Amino acid sequence: MIEVEHVKKSFGPLSVLKDISMRVPKGGVVSLIGPSGSGKSTLLRCLNLLTIPDEGTIRIGTHAMRFDRGHRMPKDKDLAAFRSKVGMVFQTFNLFPHMSVLQNVMEGPVTVLGRGKEETRVLAFHLLDKVGLREKADVYPERLSGGQKQRVAIARALAMKPEVMLFDEATSALDPELVGEVLQVVRQLASEGMTMVLVTHEIAFARDVAETCVFMRDGFVVEEGPARQVIEDPQQAATKAFLSHFH
Ligand code: ADP
Ligand code: MG
Repeated sequence: MIEVEHVKKSFGPLSVLKDISMRVPKGGVVSLIGPSGSGKSTLLRCLNLLTIPDEGTIRIGTHAMRFDRGHRMPKDKDLAAFRSKVGMVFQTFNLFPHMSVLQNVMEGPVTVLGRGKEETRVLAFHLLDKVGLREKADVYPERLSGGQKQRVAIARALAMKPEVMLFDEATSALDPELVGEVLQVVRQLASEGMTMVLVTHEIAFARDVAETCVFMRDGFVVEEGPARQVIEDPQQAATKAFLSHFH
């Protein structure tokens, strides 16, 4: 479902992704771990083309894009079609503050995809049920806890009917007691067969929810394998050193 082949990305002189390849099968869940600055967010942003790679290929489902230094930027229309396949949830909640919870969830399908308001309202209530927030439909984001905001952000991403979901430290900004309710929603998505990449510092979660764990450092994939094995019995010195901070 997701295929990354030889992706490279620099910002000026700083080479951030040095040669990344990775695959996620349909319904697969990959956890992506590594020290701060190793390129995890940049890789996720490349997966939905918020950041355009310098080189390499990104495929999501049947949509593939090949990048090559010196080639033209993809057309906006192609970028939009590609991005609509990929839902993303960030560390900060990015909800629209002037819209109710329901309006936040309906906004993308109605304005980006041109869907009808009635069908979208039905979908939005279904998704708010799924994240346990139906009763908050008419509330504005400022009245929600961080965990509730993040669950709305997940519902909003799902409203676009993405083929894959990407989570970039979705629980890092939350008070500890609110982390569990968000992880529970992610766990449920995994059990329903959503294809996902999870950047997380919740190491137990990275081990238990994902089949595969990828450890990145300095723009490279250093180690990759069954999540339980990588996290409990890492083979590379760099992986061992990183994981030792969590024990
Ligand atoms: P991680 O998510 O693993 O912490 P990032 O992908 O955010 O790592 O960042 C990797 C490196 O790329 C960092 O050194 C960061 O400062 C740099 N970087 C990320 N985005 C940009 C950008 N838009 N412009 C310049 N440097 C960037
Ligand atoms: Mg990051």
